[in-house]
Amino acid sequence: MQPRTAGALVLAAALLAGCSDGEASDADSSPTTSRPADATRDEPGVRVPASVPKRWASAANETVEDSVYPQYGDPLVDALHYDLRLTWAPDQTTLTGVETLTFRATADASKVTLDLSDALTVSRVELDGKRAVASQHGDQLQVGARVVTDSVHTLRIRYAGTPRSGGSTFRGDIGVQLGPGNELGTSQEPYGAFTWYAVNDQPGDKAFYDFTLDVPAPWRGVANGELVRTTTTDGMTRTRWHLGSPASSYLTTFGFGDYRHKRLGRVDGVPVSVWSPRANGNEQAGLDYGDDALRWAVDRLGPYPFGSLGFLVTTGVEAGMETQTMITFGDVKIGEDFRAVIVHEVVHQWYGDLVTPADWSDVWMNEGMAYYLQKVWESENGGAPLNESMGSMFASAQESRRQSGPPGDYSPERFADINVYDSPALMWHALRSELGDETFWRLVREWPQQHRFASVTRDELVNWWSQESGQDLTSFFEDWLEDPELPSP
Ligand SMILES: [Zn+2]
Repeated sequence: MQPRTAGALVLAAALLAGCSDGEASDADSSPTTSRPADATRDEPGVRVPASVPKRWASAANETVEDSVYPQYGDPLVDALHYDLRLTWAPDQTTLTGVETLTFRATADASKVTLDLSDALTVSRVELDGKRAVASQHGDQLQVGARVVTDSVHTLRIRYAGTPRSGGSTFRGDIGVQLGPGNELGTSQEPYGAFTWYAVNDQPGDKAFYDFTLDVPAPWRGVANGELVRTTTTDGMTRTRWHLGSPASSYLTTFGFGDYRHKRLGRVDGVPVSVWSPRANGNEQAGLDYGDDALRWAVDRLGPYPFGSLGFLVTTGVEAGMETQTMITFGDVKIGEDFRAVIVHEVVHQWYGDLVTPADWSDVWMNEGMAYYLQKVWESENGGAPLNESMGSMFASAQESRRQSGPPGDYSPERFADINVYDSPALMWHALRSELGDETFWRLVREWPQQHRFASVTRDELVNWWSQESGQDLTSFFEDWLEDPELPSP
């Protein structure tokens, strides 16, 4: 997510040079033939029970109760795969869902709880093919299910309703949002996915996803991953999307609207494209920087970890959100130079998406590095020299720490205030001075590559950086992340 102080992001107000290669033809309605294999993980530290199907092994997680938002998610559930079949009727504003969730039980239990908005009414639930007793209590769905540790089950849930926003956080509304023409979009960090499907809505529990999206033509649905096929039958457009890498629920996205698709080109074989509302005309022009942003990030961070990169311009999103492989943008204005925001969200594909905090107390892991690299990019692209921009950040970083708490121990009601951006960016800059450029940049690249598709704890990060740098960095990280006062420059 981009920092809240948008003014600080605006660079020179130059119009971006267009690099249009025209609107994509209907070629995107043909099936993708060269889809890369789904992600696999090879981490000796992660226990994968034999019961977990091999193709979803890298979605097996050690589940936890979130320390910041314990009311969302259930550590009993280790989600492996969500198959979401969603139909949107814009005239009736009705969302109909048929969801198939495959999960591992992490303990013996007699019921399973998922997060699901009470705006959506569940009509039928099946557990492993048999009708199950289920009830909705507020924004929770409880399903009677006798499960034992490590058993793997399939839940099929049918639901429908007029979806509703998931409420507001400090950063604005979360969950699904209706557009002026009844377009539908979403942005859910930290916990808004429950507004459109039944979910274990906690960042540490990654899962694979498939989406089948139906909507009256000429509208179409867009979601994370790669477009597998588009078909139109009886006036309805159906798009199928496959996300071949495990994702946290806050990193999923979808949109229903009259989108056009524009290809920006390929970066190391990875296709980069933009999906934007046809009515916007050229308002997506700024997103033409998407492939260049990816090239810049690859130079800093190593090979892009996913099979595709897209930008979805949709309703209901305040600004940029780093949803996995399909970055979601809100109100995109023609001519606005938001290349720095694009770079920020692209960097998140490594820091946030590929490696993800296991708990919301560590959102600084995402925002600190994305903001730091954004500042590095700005210094190389007409902005202030890096030492200057970092130096001028100290006073405001101290102020944001006082208002919202230290970045590793913030007030839950001030989620993603600037305190999880500025202090951690300063922290990485200080560590760079300490370790020297060569070691620092090597470790910045290796951390996500060595923790591919993992959800990690703060201790794991601190121990890894200490070990790899040959220095005990425990008190360094503690001071920067937990001390009420900002460490001196
Ligand atoms: Zn961000």
